[in-house]
Amino acid sequence: MKSNIINFVKSSSTVIVVGSSPLLLMAAFALTKKGKKVYLISRSDSWGGSWHYVKYGSEFVDTSCHLLESYKIVHDILKALEINMYPLTKKSAPIRLDMRLKHYKKNIALYHSRNRIFREFIYKNARLVKALGSAVLSPRKCNFKNILTILSDLKLFIYHRLSQLLVLEPIHFPKAGWPGFVREITDKLIESSADIINDSVTSINCYDNTVVVNTADGSTIKGDMLLAGQSTILESSRLLGNAKGLIFQKAYKNSYPHILVEICGLSANLELPYYIHLPADENIHRITLSFASRQGNHCFLVQIREGDDLDLESILELVLERVNIVATAYSNHLHDYSLSSDKLYYPENVSIKLLARYDPKAADLDLGRNIKPTICNNILILRTIGDLSRNMAYYQRIFC
Ligand SMILES: Cc1cc2nc3c(=O)[nH]c(=O)nc-3n(C[C@H](O)[C@H](O)[C@H](O)COP(=O)(O)OP(=O)(O)OC[C@H]3O[C@@H](n4cnc5c(N)ncnc54)[C@H](O)[C@@H]3O)c2cc1C
Repeated sequence: MKSNIINFVKSSSTVIVVGSSPLLLMAAFALTKKGKKVYLISRSDSWGGSWHYVKYGSEFVDTSCHLLESYKIVHDILKALEINMYPLTKKSAPIRLDMRLKHYKKNIALYHSRNRIFREFIYKNARLVKALGSAVLSPRKCNFKNILTILSDLKLFIYHRLSQLLVLEPIHFPKAGWPGFVREITDKLIESSADIINDSVTSINCYDNTVVVNTADGSTIKGDMLLAGQSTILESSRLLGNAKGLIFQKAYKNSYPHILVEICGLSANLELPYYIHLPADENIHRITLSFASRQGNHCFLVQIREGDDLDLESILELVLERVNIVATAYSNHLHDYSLSSDKLYYPENVSIKLLARYDPKAADLDLGRNIKPTICNNILILRTIGDLSRNMAYYQRIFC
């Protein structure tokens, strides 16, 4: 992390945080622990930002699928902030389900493995070689910013991730799911000296090193520093007044369609992975376990790939088939997963029901990458787009 950011944070005594994504909630809590006066302003209709959750019956459920990648520093930060996370057992560990193969053999692989970390390392190096190659071939068109971003990404990877080739940390998960994770940090903030304001920011200005924030209900809050995430800035770009040169002038918003489903007919005590990633699936991106229904059925949240015309009936069938593959393997304790399609365990007995549909809106992640995390007019824009773990690792000096 750059020393100007560290010095800026150190020298500020009153911090205004706009937005309630997990990174910002954790940063706000860490700053109160460092003795700073913190105001956190966020609209209550999107508390948690991209990690927003809602109530379904008596359950708190995510509106989008989540996973926190396993970095040692991330676990250390969570421990320092007294946020409880537990390592997942081997059976509930995240998996990848590759539907490209005709037979189910080798379809299922552990998501978090040395093999994957090594492949990621090769991919990052290949990106760097490609960028450097095109810079040599056509120096005029060279995109130095891109090369620097790739280099910083690679540095972070080597520093925090490569060691996992030797010691592989298990993926950690909060006991009450991701809604519980967001609630736990929020509760800590409420118990601390931070002021939480559920309101919409309508203007941000900076006069003589003092940031002045106005909200929709007429409050004015002043501080030495304002902290926000890339998406927040993207959403609120028109509000930034004299700092608007930094950012996009338009709000780019993408919708990430999700469905909450209940699958009936699986054994109630069948332990399934918390997270199923389907990298090569045209229709379904990921499936996460949400909660057990009163009847003991498994309820899942499913992220659908964005498409023009979603036929929900077919999607439900596809989800059922994919969960069936995993359930068959898990109920047979088949760790080599050498199943063939005619051996599906629950072909007739299982059924699927749509419970709810969520369409969380967030910044287009690709466009967001163009917003450089920076300091301008006492406003610190943190890199929040992309992997939460990587961003926590990058800003570790704010937390520790
Ligand atoms: C659907 C989705 C799923 C993701 N899943 C994962 C995952 O599983 N693992 C992972 O590591 N990363 C994940 N990410 C990436 C990463 O966690 C998010 O991109 C990150 O949390 C974004 O943080 P943010 O603060 O920039 O914005 P957001 O999370 O979008 O939050 C914006 C916040 O700003 C507030 N806000 C905006 N404008 C105003 C205003 N005018 N006044 C007051 N408040 C305002 C909103 O209330 C909201 O709290 C996911 C991203 C998306 C979009």
